[in-house]
Amino acid sequence: MKHIIILGDGMADWSVPALGDKTLLQYAKTPYMDKLAAMGRTGMLKTVADGFHPGSEVANMSVMGYDLPTVYEGRGVLEAASIGVDLEPGDMAMRCNIICVEGETLKNHSAGHITTEEADELIKFLEERLGTDRIHFYTGVQYRHLLVIKGGNKHLHCVPPHDIPMQPFRPNMIKAECPEAQETADLLNALILKSQELLASHPVNLKRIAEGKDPANSIWPWSPGYRPKMEPLSQKYPQIKKGSVITAVDLIRGIGRYAGLRCIDVEGATGLYNTNYEGKAAAAIEALKTDDFVYLHIEASDEAGHEGDVNLKLQTIENLDKRAVGPIYEAVKDWDEPVAIAVLPDHPTPCEHRTHTNEPVPFLIYYPGIEPDSVQTYDEISCKSGVYGTMERDEFMNEFMNNDK
Ligand SMILES: [Zn+2]
Repeated sequence: MKHIIILGDGMADWSVPALGDKTLLQYAKTPYMDKLAAMGRTGMLKTVADGFHPGSEVANMSVMGYDLPTVYEGRGVLEAASIGVDLEPGDMAMRCNIICVEGETLKNHSAGHITTEEADELIKFLEERLGTDRIHFYTGVQYRHLLVIKGGNKHLHCVPPHDIPMQPFRPNMIKAECPEAQETADLLNALILKSQELLASHPVNLKRIAEGKDPANSIWPWSPGYRPKMEPLSQKYPQIKKGSVITAVDLIRGIGRYAGLRCIDVEGATGLYNTNYEGKAAAAIEALKTDDFVYLHIEASDEAGHEGDVNLKLQTIENLDKRAVGPIYEAVKDWDEPVAIAVLPDHPTPCEHRTHTNEPVPFLIYYPGIEPDSVQTYDEISCKSGVYGTMERDEFMNEFMNNDK
């Protein structure tokens, strides 16, 4: 049997008074997800382990069955994998934002949403001026870049820059959590201040200022970690001889690399509502012809949830159903080698809350021959009555993968 997980990022939600107190999954027209739920089995999955923030990287690693306390090393290392930077033992990687400071104030975490092209020039400039045998800067996407310190100590207290807009930056600089990390903290804080000196008069920034845009005039490293001890999925699930991941999001791509999955790029896959659903569905069907496992990640619902736009989020859910789940099910339902399908979100992004929450998410599992439970629709309420109950850690993945009986 082959396996595909179709993940609608942030798709779960709360009940909405304007929808007659229904959740968005209850209200949206999702004939395919409902059909698969009715023909298959359902349950709830706790994707955010106690003590972890409900980030997409955390939740997606959980969905794949990884034990967060063992493998979680922050975002920097996942983004490193995403851009092909191979970390060696002893390397510490950090997410390195380029941000806008005004005097003593951290104005914003994105340098006014700088473009990748502009950022690439600045990061290359920093690598030239501040890079050493120990210190390396790598370009990522837009304001999100990578800093690697050989021999760095990860026991640091770092503040994510998006948590402190319009606050003084100095009191929020990096602090050592133990004496052994003091040297690393001092080094990083010196790099932040040197970057401010160097970037102030860089032509890219002078041009941005002239155009009335925010300059990218400081680095802000955070989320330190070492190479994660993630075993490839094929090791735990030998039936996965070849697997692939389809996503527009760099963190998910990074998780896929460590999980030993091939990353398939789809043209027009934007991570937004206008993402190329048909292209992603076609790529998933194509991948299933050669691979045993496909992880299809679609970001659109999460973006709509962050915007608090109920109608837009309903549309992203209906799009996922009609333009991804439906075509994939129709394409594979009669294959000689049966295909198991799971559908779930990583975490809720309730429109009312406009950010992620850590509540368990509904999931469905269907494959030819599965004995259905009594649940007839796919949503946050009905799946609570599913036969799987509430699962956690690797229970969902074990159940999904070990159905070759
Ligand atoms: Zn997410």
